[in-house]
Amino acid sequence: MNTLMDTKELLSPVWTHLTQINAVRGKGIYIYDEAGEEYMDFTSGIGVTNTGHCHPKVVQAIQDQSQELIFGQMNCVIPSKTVELAEKLNELLPNPLNRFFFSNSGSEATEACVKLAKQYTGRQNVIVMQGSFHGRTHLTMAMTTSKTVYRYKYQPLPSGIFVTPFPNHFQYGWTEDQAIDFAIKQLDLVFRGQSAPDETAAIIIEPVLGEGGYVPAPKRYLQHLRKVCDEHGILLIIDEVQSGFGRTGTFFCFEQSDVVPDILVMAKGLGSGMPISGIASTEKIMKKWVPGTHGGTYGGGSVISMAAALATIDTIKEENILENVRQRSHQLIEGLKKLQQQYPMIGDVRGRGLMVATEFINEDGTPSPELAKKVLTECVNNKLLMLACGSYANVIRWIPPLVVNEAQIEQALRIFENALAEAI
Ligand code: PMP
Repeated sequence: MNTLMDTKELLSPVWTHLTQINAVRGKGIYIYDEAGEEYMDFTSGIGVTNTGHCHPKVVQAIQDQSQELIFGQMNCVIPSKTVELAEKLNELLPNPLNRFFFSNSGSEATEACVKLAKQYTGRQNVIVMQGSFHGRTHLTMAMTTSKTVYRYKYQPLPSGIFVTPFPNHFQYGWTEDQAIDFAIKQLDLVFRGQSAPDETAAIIIEPVLGEGGYVPAPKRYLQHLRKVCDEHGILLIIDEVQSGFGRTGTFFCFEQSDVVPDILVMAKGLGSGMPISGIASTEKIMKKWVPGTHGGTYGGGSVISMAAALATIDTIKEENILENVRQRSHQLIEGLKKLQQQYPMIGDVRGRGLMVATEFINEDGTPSPELAKKVLTECVNNKLLMLACGSYANVIRWIPPLVVNEAQIEQALRIFENALAEAI
């Protein structure tokens, strides 16, 4: 054994690391390194640790379940915790979304819903939004258009994926209405020039564009998608992998738009860190999924993940976390808007709940990844962990665990303000 080697080198370089922190412990919004140094985790694993790191109720559920049953092979038995989770999600979701399929990651769940949409409609094509992120598998890479690095040197990717603009009004320098009208027109042109409606199985959208820059989808656009899908028998898929489980101030972000999808994709925040994802759909659609044509070893069978998900949902309800999200969101957005007045490099402050963006621009209004990077580096150096996003990498995202309190938001804003002052 090579004992002289830095053991971190054993890890593949394909993982890029924002920091070299050796994380050994987590509690609430904090992560601790080997030396006991404390870091504010405003990344939440991009929407994973919504209940905070190691929430006692989630930890207890994992411990209890591990002594009862860790795994049950779905082709052979039906673990009762898996049924319990379906029941709990059924209570949470609007009536037509009452059938469930579980898997391990967001990518897998997205793959699953495309397979389901193809079988249900008998059609092959999928329309995705410009700036989307749906995963890292070959199919979901083809559905991901936020950054070329996610697809770099992986061609050929599966065919049948067509891209339509997302109504990102700040990016175009337009009003929201102008951006929506443009996106509606362009979708019509996609139908006319690329994927005929009767060849289109599904349209998929993130209700807040995630990796593409934390841009909420306007209600009018979502409602238009619902109308178009109904007219043409296309399934509307809403990917709430990042925005789900309280992140935007409601259990799911789609609740804020009066639009119910045909298929809902969920992952990340569902398990508080245990790998679990799922899709919810209607009885009519799920019935058409030919038995045996999809599955996987761990999906539905990894019972500890089911127990963690049950405890996560209970915790969000019992601790009134949604109300905390709404209050902290208001505080955060107000604080950032004040800073925007002082620092014109912040071109835009936007978001829903605790999925908030600060977009950095140069004096001429063009995207500034350089400024975003400077500010981000300064924040991280001051133990506030944050991540960038956006096709130009010029957006800093604010995604603390949903249990963050008032004083912690204030502290994060202070660190950010100092970082802005350092960056100019
Ligand atoms: N969809 C969205 C909206 C995501 O943000 C992500 C992950 N960032 C995925 C799908 C893929 O999830 P996973 O990394 O669990 O495969």
